[in-house]
Amino acid sequence: MRPLARLLRSAAVTRCASTSPTPAPAPTLICPAPPPAGFFQADGSRGTVEWDRRTPPMVWHPDYSVPWPSNHRFAMWKFDDLRLECVRSGLVPSERAFFSPRDEAGDEELDAAILAAHDATYVADVTTGTLEATLWRRVGFVQAPDHARLMRRTRLEVAGTLAAADLARTHGLCAHLAGGTHHAHRRYGAGYTIFNDLAVAALDHARRRLGPVVVVDLDVHQGDGTAEILAGERGITTWSMHCAENYPFGFNEKFAPYLGGDASTIDTGLPRGAGDAEVLAALDDVLPRLLDDVAPTLVLFDAGADAHAVDGLGHLELTDAGVRNRDEYVLRACADRGIPCVTVIGGGYDRDRERLARRHASVCWSAATIWRDYDLRSRGGA
Ligand SMILES: [Zn+2]
Repeated sequence: MRPLARLLRSAAVTRCASTSPTPAPAPTLICPAPPPAGFFQADGSRGTVEWDRRTPPMVWHPDYSVPWPSNHRFAMWKFDDLRLECVRSGLVPSERAFFSPRDEAGDEELDAAILAAHDATYVADVTTGTLEATLWRRVGFVQAPDHARLMRRTRLEVAGTLAAADLARTHGLCAHLAGGTHHAHRRYGAGYTIFNDLAVAALDHARRRLGPVVVVDLDVHQGDGTAEILAGERGITTWSMHCAENYPFGFNEKFAPYLGGDASTIDTGLPRGAGDAEVLAALDDVLPRLLDDVAPTLVLFDAGADAHAVDGLGHLELTDAGVRNRDEYVLRACADRGIPCVTVIGGGYDRDRERLARRHASVCWSAATIWRDYDLRSRGGA
């Protein structure tokens, strides 16, 4: 058995009792592994981060994954699997090397950042669990077994992208082992996303007058929520390159009229079946000119894993090498111009947990390559 598979069996695959009020049959829940030893102090605060600068700063939190029905399409367990993969493969020396967002409870700055991107009524309704059923179904988390934990991890994930942006501004590059919640709109969530971390981080950067921001969204699905929230925002440019025959396009207008009508600053819709060469050519066509024209001081890069041929839910046919080349192209384009870049994960629907963890780790490996090639460890403060 492969080492990660062994870890998954011994830790993250642990089954726990269902909290469903229905008597039977209760869905099997997949529970995350316990936090790594030393990750939290006795008072609940974060222990010392043991980052040695050999790899770019990476952001993760033990509560990103919450107990989740094993048959759910959204792989809630993948955040924990990804950190195990990063450590097992030697990319990160230990879990204690990860940065983590500070606890989201009572974080007024985080509240304000979320409310800059989302409607206050929606935030209140989704937080208190009073969101009407049709809107909750639009999110896709109807089966959510523990609403409080789901909302905590949702807010933590947004806080994680904000923390990653801070680290990128200091060190030039940061990889977030979550994020990419790009279908969440201002007044509703969709496509397994509740709050939009990319929009929140872009608006936060702009609000603090830190310069122009570019969102580079290469998930196989169009970043429709990001497009809607950030439309018309000064100093913020959104570019989505996706398959034009995937969600949110092509749905019956009678049943889902809210889908498919949001325009990014630039949308590049690739045909079904486009592969490595076509994606790289389209990147080369758009990205260098975009970065030179806008001269951003931050790039938020959604490295969607669902552009991969076997990830599921997508119709682009990238290979492992294609994903790696795509991600390194973006990161090099930023590093060449000295633009700080945050990577977030996106997509990720493979039912094979080990394979999915490796696929999400790919962008972290790419970040590590760029970190080394451009000697970014010598940049930034302590
Ligand atoms: Zn996607």
